Amino acid sequence: MADKEIPYKIYLSEDELPTDWYNVRADMKNKPAPLLNPATHQPMKFADLQPVFCDELIKQELNDTDPYIPIPKEIRDFYKMYRPSPLIRAYYLERKLGTPAHIYYKFEGNNTSGSHKLNSAIAQAYYAKKQGLKGVTTETGAGQWGTALSMACSYFDLDCQVYMVKCSYEQKPFRREVMRTYGAKITPSPSDTTEVGRKINAEFPGTTGSLGCAISEAVEAATKQEGYRYVLGSVLSQVLLHQTVIGLETMTALDKYGIKPDMIIGCAGGGSNLGGLISPFMGRKLRGESDCRFIAVEPASCPSLTRGKYVYDFCDTGHVCPLAKMYTLGSEFIPSANHAGGLRYHGMSSILSQLYDDKLIEARAVEQTSVFKAAQEFARVEGILPAPESSHAIKVAMDEALKCKETGEAKNIVFGLTGTGYFDMYAYKAFNDGTMGDYIPTDEDLKRAFDTIPKF
Ligand SMILES: *Cc1c(COP(=O)(O)O)cnc(C)c1O
Repeated sequence: MADKEIPYKIYLSEDELPTDWYNVRADMKNKPAPLLNPATHQPMKFADLQPVFCDELIKQELNDTDPYIPIPKEIRDFYKMYRPSPLIRAYYLERKLGTPAHIYYKFEGNNTSGSHKLNSAIAQAYYAKKQGLKGVTTETGAGQWGTALSMACSYFDLDCQVYMVKCSYEQKPFRREVMRTYGAKITPSPSDTTEVGRKINAEFPGTTGSLGCAISEAVEAATKQEGYRYVLGSVLSQVLLHQTVIGLETMTALDKYGIKPDMIIGCAGGGSNLGGLISPFMGRKLRGESDCRFIAVEPASCPSLTRGKYVYDFCDTGHVCPLAKMYTLGSEFIPSANHAGGLRYHGMSSILSQLYDDKLIEARAVEQTSVFKAAQEFARVEGILPAPESSHAIKVAMDEALKCKETGEAKNIVFGLTGTGYFDMYAYKAFNDGTMGDYIPTDEDLKRAFDTIPKF
């Protein structure tokens, strides 16, 4: 199909919103390893997970067999407020790069929370409400997940308690106020409101917190209050499942114009947006219907796929969560304080970890100044101010498009633009001021955190 026939934005109609999420585990020959009970090392069953998670979400977490899971009407109704999201042909970026490649990006930043996280937040809030719960607890790092969950909880009239990593709580007051506007209660973590928070504060006085530590606090808060459950914004298979709405829409849009992607690129923190974007395409690959490449992009300062180990590890600092088999840097790994680009979780989705171990996806680690440089170039030609996380994917999409310039190949490159960067202006400021550095952990640094991985 000739270029000019592909519009700048491929919009879908409301009727084209997916009716089911796609569960890639059904098509995987090697299933992701089960979550283990940290005390007995036995696989977690429904009843083991019930005190922490919502019933319906546990079923989704444990479901390795059903390829399609219907999206309830109430969730689809909410999706209609901001979905289907556009698939954009990056004509202006292509022109700037002088590449014969065709670049497309799926933009998930078009809602108040500013990222894809709302896709799972609304699903999790819905199932909590349906179960008759009073509220949910969670952690948030940079704040996107907390914001998304606050919006979702206010929609379903649920109480929302957010443990926010202390340094973000202090550095991102505007995020905090967005959450409060939607009615959420925000506590800086580690706090003195939980046992595990008090313990961490005593052990590491003056600590500014970490995601792993906020998770432990949120889990404790959920299990100690009647009518509450814990919800998580990434890593878990249920979250990746909800995010497949991104990939399903992308597939419908590309199919409409007969476009076959040669590679799909996404940033990887806990792996939910990348997993959601690639799942349906991975399904085609697993069924032998396509040979598309998939590239996970992570920060060089938190390189769980490219330098981590594929083992069972703790998901949180306080060791209250189940053990997950994943590519991990060790639950006590904390990226350098100068790392500003997000994607700072020590582990990776067990689904993506298995696919990576099976060599079905590739991974690349990129340094943060190169990421912000790509963000700046992208913003100047495509107009959107990208989130630093998303910019990891932009960086590698641009690298791949430049390779096409050398070889003269008109490859179809698709990447996920997960969100906008309006709350990351300190990071952009450091970049603009030239004070941003690149901090890559040494093997010694990594070894220290690897030593905290449980051995059994
Ligand atoms: C949270 C977040 C990510 C990373 O999370 P994943 O679970 O790996 O998708 C990426 N981009 C944005 C904008 C985010 O808010």
